[in-house]
Amino acid sequence: MTESAAAGAPVLEVKQLRKYFPIRTGVLSRISGYVRAVDGVTFDIRPGETFALVGESGCGKSTTGRTILRLTGATDGEVHYNGEDVLAASGDRMRRLRKAMQIVFQDPYSALNPRMTVGTAIREILQVHGVASGPQARERVEELLVRCGLEAYHSWRYPHEFSGGQRQRVVIARALALDPQFIVADEPISALDVSIQSQIINLLEDLQDTYQLTYLFISHDLSVVRHMADRVGVMYLGKLVEVAEKREFYREPLHPYSQALLSAIPVSDPAIRKTRIILKGDVPSPANPPAGCPFHTRCPVAMEVCRSVVPELKPTTGGRQVACHLVHPVS
Ligand code: SF4
Repeated sequence: MTESAAAGAPVLEVKQLRKYFPIRTGVLSRISGYVRAVDGVTFDIRPGETFALVGESGCGKSTTGRTILRLTGATDGEVHYNGEDVLAASGDRMRRLRKAMQIVFQDPYSALNPRMTVGTAIREILQVHGVASGPQARERVEELLVRCGLEAYHSWRYPHEFSGGQRQRVVIARALALDPQFIVADEPISALDVSIQSQIINLLEDLQDTYQLTYLFISHDLSVVRHMADRVGVMYLGKLVEVAEKREFYREPLHPYSQALLSAIPVSDPAIRKTRIILKGDVPSPANPPAGCPFHTRCPVAMEVCRSVVPELKPTTGGRQVACHLVHPVS
């Protein structure tokens, strides 16, 4: 969290966000069902904070990030950025929001146009948004590249001339071009070699301190999240099952799914090493989620009630929120 991170009004508020993808079948492409990728997600992020969304692949964390930025349309719910209704914004208001809210994708190669030099790609954004043109835009591109650990002359190079780590630096420089305050970092290091992952993490932290950025950090890697996040939200089958401050979450995860995820991280200190919890079976299909608690088909401590009653995400001790019948809520 940046030094100026305030405990005040959230910069981003997400309420009951849903994104269902229709399943079409037959020659007439009739809708025969829906994949519930994001199914009623509610959380907020404070200024200067890094909020991490974690969970297995396919749990809906990336779709949540994209729906917040309107890269894909929401089915239902609300997203407010500094009080502005993102899902209802249009025209000038949406253009302003697009400048303030940016994304860094997982795969830096596919995020860049292979036929454009990186300088042209970044300059194009500055011109389209009317931020800078001509020599001023060139200067701004060079400044961004240098700020992200590259050299000014790199602006004349094409994406294939960079290493994976350098390409991700270019993508981050491009995301910063419009002076955003909020960035969705969607698995920003998982396509990179392990040896350079920490450099990109350090760069993101450094930029957060310098520009007071707020991050939604999406990752399946709980070791990286431990280093990067201030708070953690755990997703399972399109729903948030636990939200907690990082320290509390890693010290004592409350949801059985969080406990299983954390038990799989290698820990060198035997005093805090946890017994590995092996989950049985596969994650159910989000097109046909189980009734009751979505985790009950794999939960090692499931009870009869879990088969029929959906546990809501409710506040519990220590400012945490958990969706489990075994965890007692506090008002
Ligand atoms: Fe397990 Fe029941 Fe809690 Fe779901 S509600 S996590 S099935 S104990």
